[in-house]
Amino acid sequence: MIENIAISVEEAKRLIIENTKILEPAEIPLTEAKGYVLAEDIISPVNLPFFTNSAMDGYAVKSMDTKRAGESNHVALKVTGIVRAGDFPDFILSDGEAAKIMTGAPVPKGADSVVMVEYTEEEDGIVKVKRPVNPGENLRYEGEEIKQGEIALESGTHLTSASIGFVAELGINKIKAYRKPKIALVVTGEELVGTDEELGPGKIRDTNSVTLQSALSQEVVESKFIGRVRDEVFDIEEKLKKAILWCDVLLVTGGVSVGDYDYVKEIFKKLGIEGIFWRVSQRPGGPLFFGKRGNSVTFGLPGNPASSLVCFYEYVRPALRRMIGRRDLFLLELEALLSEEIKKSPGKTNFLRGYVEKKGGSFYVKSTGTQGSHILKSFALSNCLIVVPKDATHLPPGSTVKVHLLPE
Ligand code: AMP
Ligand code: MG
Repeated sequence: MIENIAISVEEAKRLIIENTKILEPAEIPLTEAKGYVLAEDIISPVNLPFFTNSAMDGYAVKSMDTKRAGESNHVALKVTGIVRAGDFPDFILSDGEAAKIMTGAPVPKGADSVVMVEYTEEEDGIVKVKRPVNPGENLRYEGEEIKQGEIALESGTHLTSASIGFVAELGINKIKAYRKPKIALVVTGEELVGTDEELGPGKIRDTNSVTLQSALSQEVVESKFIGRVRDEVFDIEEKLKKAILWCDVLLVTGGVSVGDYDYVKEIFKKLGIEGIFWRVSQRPGGPLFFGKRGNSVTFGLPGNPASSLVCFYEYVRPALRRMIGRRDLFLLELEALLSEEIKKSPGKTNFLRGYVEKKGGSFYVKSTGTQGSHILKSFALSNCLIVVPKDATHLPPGSTVKVHLLPE
């Protein structure tokens, strides 16, 4: 345990990634696979397209027959068939013949191209072609997208809606992906009251369980809100004991600071959670605790609502993504120009809640208001975190800063 020294943001991220392992693969139904990461290559069992088909509504022809076609020199071909999508033509096209064909329909044998309907005119079973076509024009060839036996998607691919559709097209309905982590969330604090409960004197709303459950709902995880616990060693220990037996990631908010009733770290120790670090040189979210026990990891997040959410996005979310095998772990970073100056004291990395937008060819960013670690209003108005380096004290307007885009 790096005890009592605040480590850098970079060091904290490194230690978290180093101590968080990818979970074991599991079989996942394709319809539930969005967001997972493939744990093996998917090999195509088929050719795609399955058969050569038309890319346009028009007429399947022999391109040779259309060679001399022009606006003032229509070539007349006999329409000997019609192929709709879903049909399978059982005839063969001969010289001087055409078959009416719809987009996606299989091309009859003998045809080597399709003339778009726009360049034709049909009357009494004869189609006049007004333009020549090249061999292969307007055809989608069997296997041009992927051939049977080729790798369709590689192990490590993150599954989007499009990739799930692609796998479905191959006729595969189960995939192997790294399983999702189980997250147990516990919030501590004598003062906390749920939004559906009466607010007594001195009490405040428990917002951490709301923001964190919402943030978790966007990740590939199975999360359980264990509940709110009072600042009593026995209560906290009992709740955490149960939680740690079930979860891969234990998230606890509050009680990790230096107050008289901050028992959480002591209880972590008692439960066999080995501390890796406590305290990061940053604002907000300085008193962050990270530890592990076997293959599970534990985050002790500071109680202040803005602190716990910043720590979630900067540290917890990357760990969750690591567990499911994602390679891109962190919030998307881009460079933006400051619209307003920023002043701060040196020594700590600051994550300011900001709003970034593109104007002209550049991104511009500004703070969304007062930045106290207890203040959610500026967070509510933000779409990014502005990263102000540790030693910076004054950044004038127009300075280039890094911003981390928040998930929507
Ligand atoms: P702690 O880290 O327990 O010292 O808490 C720091 C500050 O955050 C205190 O002002 C707490 O009242 C507040 N706080 C702790 N937990 C929550 C929570 N779940 N929701 C809102 N505020 C909280
Ligand atoms: Mg507390």
